[in-house]
Amino acid sequence: MTQTIVIAEMNNNAVHPSTAELVAAAMTFGGAPTVVVPCTDASAADGAANMGAGSILAAKSSAFAHYDASGWAAALDAVTPQGTIITGASPQSKDLAARLAARRNIAVVQDAVTIQGQQVTSPVYSGKAMQTVALNGPAVISVRSNIFNAATGGASDVQVLDTEGNVATSVVEFMARASERLDVAEANIVISGGRGMGSPENFSHLEAIADTIGAAVGASRAAVDTWEAIPHSMQVGQTGKTVNPNLYIAVGISGAIQHLAGMRSSKYIVAINKDADAPIFQHADYGIVATWEEALPVLHDTLKSMMA
Ligand SMILES: Cc1cc2nc3c(=O)[nH]c(=O)nc-3n(C[C@H](O)[C@H](O)[C@H](O)COP(=O)(O)OP(=O)(O)OC[C@H]3O[C@@H](n4cnc5c(N)ncnc54)[C@H](O)[C@@H]3O)c2cc1C
Repeated sequence: MTQTIVIAEMNNNAVHPSTAELVAAAMTFGGAPTVVVPCTDASAADGAANMGAGSILAAKSSAFAHYDASGWAAALDAVTPQGTIITGASPQSKDLAARLAARRNIAVVQDAVTIQGQQVTSPVYSGKAMQTVALNGPAVISVRSNIFNAATGGASDVQVLDTEGNVATSVVEFMARASERLDVAEANIVISGGRGMGSPENFSHLEAIADTIGAAVGASRAAVDTWEAIPHSMQVGQTGKTVNPNLYIAVGISGAIQHLAGMRSSKYIVAINKDADAPIFQHADYGIVATWEEALPVLHDTLKSMMA
């Protein structure tokens, strides 16, 4: 049996709940994995308790205050046991997965959606095909969110390993635009707007619906490229984020292949577009042929009464 190690998903120096899904993915190899928590303060590793871990290691270094691929990979490589490593599939975690695999000279499989025995399946060619690879040794595997049911129980004791001395360079300050909003890559429901929204101000209609149903707001690349007020962090697609929510609502988005690459694996897709021939309708479970000006107020009122 391959020993498995999960690198905890971190958010603002706290263990993200999706780590429990990674533990469940690791368990498909048999046994409970070791969860390694990259942290500046070892108490953060307590957040990995009750996530099904066999053991919990707090990898402590000031380098973990802000993400930097080379610093994080060096610090984690020094304290992570040998074996198959599972990470999340956020852009940061996939970056880290590749770095760790390169440092250890082992294979990397990105965006896994199925693990059966030693066979790992992931989408390729912008989601147009699925690839299954057979592992014949340790590997680093990034696993998409909302695929595995979160593991529970397991270890709560934390072993602390200092990895301060293993880092040559680290990021000391990181300036980000403040946002209170849920990240599209983590949300169960995403409502995205495209160029058809007409202006960035009109995204307030999407935000109002998102607030009603607890959704994240995303955007097409055309919206991000056209309007400075729509940040790249909202972009869904080939050169943006890959999302895998239960419900994806595309508003004023044509459905270009590069957009589909980031959202086509959503469980249910709803499209609102004034053009009945828009390609997005070929991939939607439910389609509304109307302008967003007509459709969104009706949708919002209905959702508000459902949520009341
Ligand atoms: C290398 C590469 C990478 C790319 N990566 C990405 C990516 O990551 N993500 C991405 O999204 N795109 C990406 N693109 C761009 C992609 O090809 C499309 O140009 C883009 O997705 C189009 O965005 P859109 O659907 O918002 O705009 P448009 O194609 O302009 O479509 C707007 C839609 O809104 C509808 N509409 C207009 N007014 C209304 C209204 N009032 N109510 C309802 N509907 C309305 C129209 O009928 C139309 O279908 C990439 C392109 C390349 C070449």
